[in-house]
Amino acid sequence: MGNNSHSNEFNYTYSKVKINTRYSGLINHETGKSYSIDEVQSYCKETNEPLVAQYDLEQPLNKGVLQGRPFNMWRYEELLPITDRRFVVTLGEGFTPLMKMKQLAQQYSLGSLLLKEEGVNPTGSFKARGLSMAVSKAYELGIDSFAIPTAGNAGSALSAYCAKAGLEANIYMPKLTPKMFQLDCSIMGANVCVIDGNISDCGVAMRRDNAEGKWWDVTTLKEPFRLEGKKTMGFEIAEQLNWKLPDVLIYPTGGGTGLIGIWKGFHELQKLGWIDEIPTRMVAVQTTGCDPIVRAFEEGRNFSVPYEDPDVTIANGLRVPHAFGHKLIMKTIYESDGYAVRVSDDQIRDALREFAGQEGIFLSPEGAAVWHAARHLKSTNRIKDGESVLLLNTGSGYKYAENLW
Ligand SMILES: *Cc1c(COP(=O)(O)O)cnc(C)c1O
Repeated sequence: MGNNSHSNEFNYTYSKVKINTRYSGLINHETGKSYSIDEVQSYCKETNEPLVAQYDLEQPLNKGVLQGRPFNMWRYEELLPITDRRFVVTLGEGFTPLMKMKQLAQQYSLGSLLLKEEGVNPTGSFKARGLSMAVSKAYELGIDSFAIPTAGNAGSALSAYCAKAGLEANIYMPKLTPKMFQLDCSIMGANVCVIDGNISDCGVAMRRDNAEGKWWDVTTLKEPFRLEGKKTMGFEIAEQLNWKLPDVLIYPTGGGTGLIGIWKGFHELQKLGWIDEIPTRMVAVQTTGCDPIVRAFEEGRNFSVPYEDPDVTIANGLRVPHAFGHKLIMKTIYESDGYAVRVSDDQIRDALREFAGQEGIFLSPEGAAVWHAARHLKSTNRIKDGESVLLLNTGSGYKYAENLW
């Protein structure tokens, strides 16, 4: 897996400031209305739907362009929205390990069990990818202050990239978020506002404080570029597996950017001819106390409805009562012939312990939810003997210690 040439940012010099990106603007995924590359747009105010970045993928691009580039998410620069290298705000995010979990694969009769370990990203989660991209693009567009409602990791990541670039971050976080997340945000100089409520309540408070619109709102899918950072997981999975995708990919779904992004990434690679087939069934995992996507799936709907009074869970990132990109999440599940599965906190604890004991990896509660979902789908025969299954461990378990004593 992977590639062994050891180039990094110290021995690789980019020759030009201008990036040869194929980025061609934004599109409303429902109406098809498009916006040029120079228009600063967040989401479609008329239809209340996300805007999605488009690329010109008609002209051929050889995989060889990757050769020798540093192993971080910026190696796919032709397929990213930044046009000027000087605005890239990076802490080395991406190109995380993709590892074989041999013990558990054997025990559960899987062809292969793969773990993409996102917990090693800056600030300990895959949120680094999305916020590195969103902050870089906004910086390029001349924006200098940001706001976000967060279940923890997105706030940490926004704080870090804003600190690095000298920009302002305003973080709205539920009171029940582990203290570590409040601590690292404020240590990195962000303004942290702790709210007695869930992430949707944080969004309401943030919009109230931002009524004049002085801050760039980077709520999940309310701006288009976090998705572009998250899709690099799809590029890496393809590259690390030698351009052959797994049968099943399981993802802990809050706002859904990772699920949607990976699926988008796979299709961009297919358009370029870098992969032939996309056999992957995409699985969304939620908790029993907040499962709007699972309910929509079980009822065959292509949209979810806001979940009232979500229960507290140790998997903070999954306590999202309504995802702005809910229609895109449902579309991904159906298009890929996937599933949506709910998991309880007890099952998360049990799965976390099994994975740690057998494979030596301390999953985040969200990652452990994914492992339980895999066991469950296998035992109900929706994953068959011999299939390849890829799990996303979206964050480091260590930041959640307080939830797990
Ligand atoms: C944010 C988060 C999630 C959910 O990600 P979405 O892209 O919002 O669906 C899952 N796991 C962890 C650790 C997170 O921080």
